[in-house]
Amino acid sequence: MFNWLRDHRRAEMLERPFPLEWEAILHSNVAHYSMLDEAESDELRRMVQVFLEEKHWEGCGGLELTDEIRITIAAQACLLLLALPHDEFYRNVDSIIVYPSTVVPPERKPGFFEHLNGVVEAPVPILGQAFVQGPVVLVWDAVLHGARHPEQGHNVVYHEFAHKLDMLDGTANGTPPLVNREQLSEWVKVCSREFLRVRSLSEKGHKTFIDAYGAQSEAEFFAVVTEEFFDRPLALQKHAPDLYNVLCNYYRQDPAVRTNRTHSLKK
Ligand SMILES: [Zn+2]
Repeated sequence: MFNWLRDHRRAEMLERPFPLEWEAILHSNVAHYSMLDEAESDELRRMVQVFLEEKHWEGCGGLELTDEIRITIAAQACLLLLALPHDEFYRNVDSIIVYPSTVVPPERKPGFFEHLNGVVEAPVPILGQAFVQGPVVLVWDAVLHGARHPEQGHNVVYHEFAHKLDMLDGTANGTPPLVNREQLSEWVKVCSREFLRVRSLSEKGHKTFIDAYGAQSEAEFFAVVTEEFFDRPLALQKHAPDLYNVLCNYYRQDPAVRTNRTHSLKK
């Protein structure tokens, strides 16, 4: 496919300097931004510029969208893609809809959400939703809290955009497009074992390191472990080293190394 028009627009866009106010937003709101090395943060800023420009953004429930909201969301969505081929920047995401705070969608009845074939997030109220052929819906207060507090292991942007990665092949089944059969067979082996382990423990009422919400389905499992992978990589590596490695191979990032480096710099 010819993408010369898109590439030309992007080249022009990237000639503009990244505004200092935007950089300040990244530092104050997105804890993971400060943990990136120079090459990674350069690339993430470029990605944020493209993502802001090429996606349709909409505030709902009285929320007026600001640069702060868009940048905080864009940076986290783009972090997942940082080391993956990202020319298409989530080709299955046209729109991002943001509500001010936790919402119970009144539209959740036949004829609206269902026809979009959504991954339905129970229980309502929701913090976010991702639709196979539709938008990503996010709640700003949850977005901000997750972005600033990775130690808590919940990040609605990572969660919903992991669903979108999963859906790139048309179905939400917990397996995003992988590069080859070898990667797929390792993925299936490790993820099914870990998924069944979490499911069995949660059915017995035991506490699990991976949030029991991930036991609902393979799709939720991938979204939940993506949150843990980026938010609490050292703990995930300790509790489920094979799963950590499978995610490292998929995302082509090693957040545990990043976390250790950040800790050693702080000493
Ligand atoms: Zn989900």
